Amino acid sequence: MTPAVGIDLGTTYSAVAWVNPDGDPEIIPDAAGEPLTASVVSFAGGAPVVGVSAKADLAADATEVAHLFKRSMGNASFRLSLGGRQWSPTELSALVLGHLKAQAEAALGVPVTRAVVTVPDYFTHPQRSATIEAGRLAGLEVPRIISEPTAAALAYGLRPGPRSRRVLVYDLGGGTFDISLVDIDAEGITVRSTEGDHELGGRDWDERLAAIILDKHPDEAAAIEAHPGPLLVAVEDLKRMLSARRAAEVRLVVGDRTLRCEVTREEFEAACRDLLQSTAQLTGKVLEETGLTWADIDGVLPVGGSTRMPMVRDWIEAMSGKPPMGGVHPDQAVALGAAAQAAILLEQEAGLRLDGPGDVEPILRLSAPRRIVGTVAHSLGMIAENAAGDRYVNSVLLPRNRTIPCVETRPYQFHVKGDGSDLLEVFLTQGETDDPAPCAYLGRYLVTGFPGRSRGRTVVDIAYAYDDNAIVGVTATDRSSGAALHVEVADLPEDVPQRFLQPPVRATVREPLTTYLAFDLSGSMAGAPLAAAQQAARAFLAQLDLTTTEVGIVSFSDRVAVSLPATHNAADVERAIGRLTVGSTGVGNATDPFRELRQLLAGVEGRRFGVVLADGVWYNQSGAVQRAHECHRDGVEIIAVGFGSADRKFLRKIASSTEQAMFTNLGQLSAVFGTIAREITESGSSDYRLPGAG
Ligand code: AMP
Repeated sequence: MTPAVGIDLGTTYSAVAWVNPDGDPEIIPDAAGEPLTASVVSFAGGAPVVGVSAKADLAADATEVAHLFKRSMGNASFRLSLGGRQWSPTELSALVLGHLKAQAEAALGVPVTRAVVTVPDYFTHPQRSATIEAGRLAGLEVPRIISEPTAAALAYGLRPGPRSRRVLVYDLGGGTFDISLVDIDAEGITVRSTEGDHELGGRDWDERLAAIILDKHPDEAAAIEAHPGPLLVAVEDLKRMLSARRAAEVRLVVGDRTLRCEVTREEFEAACRDLLQSTAQLTGKVLEETGLTWADIDGVLPVGGSTRMPMVRDWIEAMSGKPPMGGVHPDQAVALGAAAQAAILLEQEAGLRLDGPGDVEPILRLSAPRRIVGTVAHSLGMIAENAAGDRYVNSVLLPRNRTIPCVETRPYQFHVKGDGSDLLEVFLTQGETDDPAPCAYLGRYLVTGFPGRSRGRTVVDIAYAYDDNAIVGVTATDRSSGAALHVEVADLPEDVPQRFLQPPVRATVREPLTTYLAFDLSGSMAGAPLAAAQQAARAFLAQLDLTTTEVGIVSFSDRVAVSLPATHNAADVERAIGRLTVGSTGVGNATDPFRELRQLLAGVEGRRFGVVLADGVWYNQSGAVQRAHECHRDGVEIIAVGFGSADRKFLRKIASSTEQAMFTNLGQLSAVFGTIAREITESGSSDYRLPGAG
């Protein structure tokens, strides 16, 4: 029978676990009984060696040693020269996975050909793909990759305790930090939101210790730094000792002398405060994103070897007001959770139902939570041009923190020549801001196969999906013919991302579009009407070509507020929609949004729209009509949508044309807004080409 095996492929340490015949996940130690294996590969003796002896080589300053390569995972150009050849981080990771596979086989006495492997939550698509590839190279099928915090929460959820808990998983490993809000109950694990920093981990604490030592021994500093290997290993030892006592000492051989370096815990802690502060900042972001406060959190679950440091535990307690939660080994939880996930997959394949026992024997203890809902840490987007056409922007299409699997379909205006040469080129990104510089580039997606008869202007609906592994999939449909289009992923050109950091070369005429949604948020909108308006705004957003369209939000009642200046970023728009509240601008109908719409859209290139939702009767109708007409005169098209006690005649007066005034009811609001957006999109420019095409 296939054993349920999970592997924590860590930056500094890795571990392998399985679910034992009692139904409990258990670490498989190495031959020496050690639960953790150093993620270090040494070529000092010729053939690659993984683990503790490789780490010894690192301490002896062997230059033929690779470590911390997980930090470069998925980086296509990163290579290390070792043992006479070039190694990619994927290949080095495969050596670690192969080592753990052999370790498991020796302990279990059966072949191990598949394993769930964990990754940091914020690993991007290329990093996740590289992890699966590393498994393949090691002879392991990887049926699922799961996030480290999800795995840790699952391991914790297997422990007896209150049926439902809302916890923050504080995962500080050797090279990475993840903070995730997770709900654990009897059925399963639901990750709500995650933040992370893949440049923050135990290594940074090591570096602070190294700096203290160099500071204390200025005369030997240059000699020590010339061969950093021994220092790196010494400070890690020292750090571990300082977790257990208030002062500790290491010896460093420098030339023909042995240096004794003593550091106190107090000195160490003083040098690391800003690192802790960084973790607090990310924790605050998670709370803010989920709209929760510390009072809503049952506790903080420390995960990762670095949470063994007393300063981290004190910090957690100071932040949360509660001692850190216990019950799982901080550096084994991830591997244990991965093994549990492997068992759940095997059970599902064999037919065990999630909602109760099926026909097969459970592999995992029957009382264990089995439904695992993960999220995506990265928004998915594509490169577009800004409205003025003088800058590339990252247009976010599928916002982060959606639960996976998920899919989002968005339209694109496209001009089809119909001569067989039509090609829609999409540069997919993972990143949160409009700025293309910090984005990860997933690839160049080429859409072809347009039917000959759909010549001229067309709309292509592109569906972006994250699968269970948070790996991206793209499909495309030609809207007018309904034909499925061919999508193929090509390598990134060498000049990406540099190309997108420079102004676009304008090869084509394109008409950008800017549209503001203006919401009447007077008192009568409270409750169901506001919820319907928010839903309608989301339906509107889903139908816009965000590569050519910027969307902004204005709210008004007694006062007018610009809730969001126009942007290409769907995540920002969604957040602004979620934040709309009745009462923030008063409760009456004293004002109208037209002056602000006119100002916001003055001087903006391309077509400009204000879509105004009215629910009651406005006090100053003649003033509103006058200001609406000023918008019309300036070329700002006003579309007026009314429901409830809105006045139809008035709607027709503020709209740019009779067809642009609509009266509806709450139930139809989303459909109406969706249609407006579709029409705006389908009536758009005919000469538009995606940036970079041809
Ligand atoms: P992980 O990636 O979760 O295995 O965490 C490894 C990190 O935890 C490394 O930076 C270790 O130096 C650190 N670590 C492990 N044990 C301790 C300890 N007792 N005190 C301080 N740091 C530790």
